[in-house]
Amino acid sequence: MQHTVSIALMNDAELSSAIKSEARRLGFELSGIAPAVSPDGLSAFHEWLNRGYDGEMTYIGGREAAYAHPSGVLESVRSIVMLAINYRTADTPASEPGSARVSRYAWGSVDYHDLIRKKLQQLADVMHQQRPGCRTRCVVDTAPLLERDFARLAGLGWFGKNTMLINKRAGSWLFLAALLTDQTLQYDEPHETSHCGTCTRCLDACPTDAFPEPYVLDARRCISYLTIELRGPIPAELRPGMGDWLFGCDICQDVCPWNNKAPRSDEPAFDPVPDLYPADAIALLGLSDDEFRERFRHTPLWRPKRAGLLRNAAIVLGNSGDTRALPALTLRLDDKEPLIRGAAAWAIGRLGGPQEAACMRARLEHEEIAHVAAELSAAIRAIEAKSNQ
Ligand code: SF4
Ligand code: SF4
Repeated sequence: MQHTVSIALMNDAELSSAIKSEARRLGFELSGIAPAVSPDGLSAFHEWLNRGYDGEMTYIGGREAAYAHPSGVLESVRSIVMLAINYRTADTPASEPGSARVSRYAWGSVDYHDLIRKKLQQLADVMHQQRPGCRTRCVVDTAPLLERDFARLAGLGWFGKNTMLINKRAGSWLFLAALLTDQTLQYDEPHETSHCGTCTRCLDACPTDAFPEPYVLDARRCISYLTIELRGPIPAELRPGMGDWLFGCDICQDVCPWNNKAPRSDEPAFDPVPDLYPADAIALLGLSDDEFRERFRHTPLWRPKRAGLLRNAAIVLGNSGDTRALPALTLRLDDKEPLIRGAAAWAIGRLGGPQEAACMRARLEHEEIAHVAAELSAAIRAIEAKSNQ
């Protein structure tokens, strides 16, 4: 006799439970289900945009209206399954001269979007098997959805002063993802309490003062934005605060006590690959277009492109105090990318002496881009000022 399970007979509670079981099997550390409502944080989000804290990320403000309700992502949506996957693997690497730090989320061998999307699709398959004809939409980062609001609503955790979603057991090294559906499900209780208390460690530790107030991030000052999203030169006054951060920044999560006992991820694809743990800033400065594409095409580090990543590497070297970087930086004064030439000049101004100043004077004579010429002039002055001391 053929044995068939009529999964369509599952009621909302049974289906919700089945989805959570499958989510656990797929490696999601946390899961919860929220109704599709207008998010609580909508007015704060509008205020954040009004204050210009999104910087050049105009793709956020351009879809402002769609954030008002998840129906902007999936028409007729009723429920949102919120999921979190843990990416805490190794400890933060030790910092040495010339080494460059990469944000933990990008240490692995894959682009997490691809990995999570596949898992979400498997979860969506459960919905489609059990409610044939239902509609679903998988979301990892790119849709106009206030994911942290829905994660809180689904009971996954609270919104920390560092603006991250924090779970008491799992901490905040979590990728958030969402599965939207037009089906009703059984909803979890929202996480109503906050557990930051009087702690201000994250606010105090931020090297670029990117928190104008608790729970609010001015992305324009955040190293993550500066090193990943910003296409132009990084404002000179923020460069020293970048320290050795090449791509992203983890400081406000590293210092959070809720991450002390956060569990380790068992996803091997998130294990750090050696050349990003830490990265070698001098080696990165030598990358051609083809080499950059070959190494980073399918990783998060592709986003700033070669120009942005080498800009960041030059600034890290400028902050390192390591004069062994000078030959590599001097070569980049002739790079085809103005962004890289300007950052190299700044770094040389920090590390170099009269010989490098002479190189930059020669370069200045035929530099055609105004902002690069200004960087060269400022760097020459910086070296002259050091020589006169
Ligand atoms: Fe500050 Fe770094 Fe946190 Fe950005 S990621 S807010 S720069 S500590
Ligand atoms: Fe909250 Fe302290 Fe963690 Fe900041 S460091 S998010 S204030 S618990």
